[in-house]
Amino acid sequence: MKKKNHKYIFVIGGVMSGVGKGIAASAIAKILHAKGFSVNPIKVDPYLNVDAGTMNPTEHGEVFVLDSGLETDQDMGNYERFLGIDLKTEDYITSGLVYRTVIERERALGYAGKCVEALPHIPNEIIKRIQRAADLHGSDISLIEIGGTVGDYQNIMFLEAARRLWLKFPQDVIFILVSYLPIPHKLGEMKTKPTQTAVHQLNSYGIQPHILIARSAVALDAKRKEKLAIWCNVPAENIISAPDVESIYDVVLNFERDKISDWILETLSLRSRVRRDTLAPWRKFVTRTKNLSGEVNIAVVGKYFDTGDFVLSDAYISVIEAIKYSAYKVGVKPILHWLNAKDFENGEKNVSTLAGYDGVIVPGGFGESGIEGKLKVIHYAREKKIPYFGLCYGMQLAVVEYARNVLGLKDANTTEIDEKTANPVIDIMPEQKKKLEEKDYGGTMRLGAYPALLKDGTIARRAYGVETISERHRHRYEVNPEYVERIEKAGLVFSGTSPNGVLMEIAELPRKVHPFFVGTQFHPEFKARPLHPHELFTEFMKAAVGRKKNKK
Ligand code: GLN
Repeated sequence: MKKKNHKYIFVIGGVMSGVGKGIAASAIAKILHAKGFSVNPIKVDPYLNVDAGTMNPTEHGEVFVLDSGLETDQDMGNYERFLGIDLKTEDYITSGLVYRTVIERERALGYAGKCVEALPHIPNEIIKRIQRAADLHGSDISLIEIGGTVGDYQNIMFLEAARRLWLKFPQDVIFILVSYLPIPHKLGEMKTKPTQTAVHQLNSYGIQPHILIARSAVALDAKRKEKLAIWCNVPAENIISAPDVESIYDVVLNFERDKISDWILETLSLRSRVRRDTLAPWRKFVTRTKNLSGEVNIAVVGKYFDTGDFVLSDAYISVIEAIKYSAYKVGVKPILHWLNAKDFENGEKNVSTLAGYDGVIVPGGFGESGIEGKLKVIHYAREKKIPYFGLCYGMQLAVVEYARNVLGLKDANTTEIDEKTANPVIDIMPEQKKKLEEKDYGGTMRLGAYPALLKDGTIARRAYGVETISERHRHRYEVNPEYVERIEKAGLVFSGTSPNGVLMEIAELPRKVHPFFVGTQFHPEFKARPLHPHELFTEFMKAAVGRKKNKK
């Protein structure tokens, strides 16, 4: 149950996107948590997609999957990682979801003959969902991050919901604006005007921010703070300078140093519930990230890297984070190299260049593009004993490669690429076939947490240290059971399976054959946390460090 005097913090973005609103919100949630409050973060996204699952990663960045199987925005991953918690379906709200519920309720006569309108029914449904999530968690504080930027037409309904909630509980609701202050190159001076305009725009919706987080390349000076205070109507002490930082993990400690939680708690009439330094483990983690000895070079071979003239590694944010946490645990700095699978396909890059890396990762993916390139990469990594970690598609393709080049099934393939292959070593799951035929794509993959059993004496079993694990999935295809025996006979070990033994969850080569050749049908990256690095990423990283040492 939601507690009495439950508090709501709305985090809103000003001026432009991409300034770290999600990180700021995660950091705020983290420090409030460290002050002894249970905080449930909620991400609202204004798009009409019901969830993030149908969007191309170059559009939207990574699709983050919850235990429940909901496909969400990558910010949900930030919250899970910063707070070390598992979020629930109710913690993610999209316009599509809200509109769909309202329309379905109308069809079921749920509005008792009334005219159903955007106002008030949409904001009312949003409020209902926010409160339901708070109830479910029994939290003290809901921290609601509103996607997009003030002035976007799309997020008006969410801002209206926030305003209505504030009107109802003025003592219990606060607004934090995360805004951006540009320093135009030619002027060399930090400009406050765009932020002033953002606040005025917010005011026109009936919302006055209580706290302003001023994101910029450098720290805010006294003069600009004063200007912002006057023109944005926010007390100077409630304006937090948030200059660019070397690493996102610093944000938590910087905010705490600036006493942001004091201002938030004071505005909400709350008092810290702890005396000790509950951020100590985080502090230790941050210190570790800065005291590394040596580097490892990891090649990530994927396809979602370009958008226009820019490279977008956002599509793999959880993979990047998972690599970092394990590298930090092992004490090295990971240098990631984004290699486009297509370059290996058309010969622009020779696979022998991979010899220069300490480890290779082929992350998840869909469809045909770059596949033969990825297969070449896997083949090379296997033969040359370069530590290889395949995530979902990267595991399926490792099985295809093994079938082709070790079993000698030259035409082995996944039916995702070649429906008519004579050797479908990776095949669509029967229940998935029907969904595709019916064009029922949204939220219908094998999604979310499923248990797996680990085989004794394997790399996986040793790494996890337990027999049963739970990991998150997002796929329609799987290792074809008809080939399992033959593949195993040829030396690839399925070290993790579904409890009934039908689905192959982990494939690996024994350590005496290869230092680390592991693929997972699931996405281990979704469960990696700064304070709990993922066991398999850590094993991979140790193998990468081992290769580096041997090269010397
Ligand atoms: N395309 C593959 C499947 O659907 C792998 C999916 C993934 O890598 N997430 O099974």
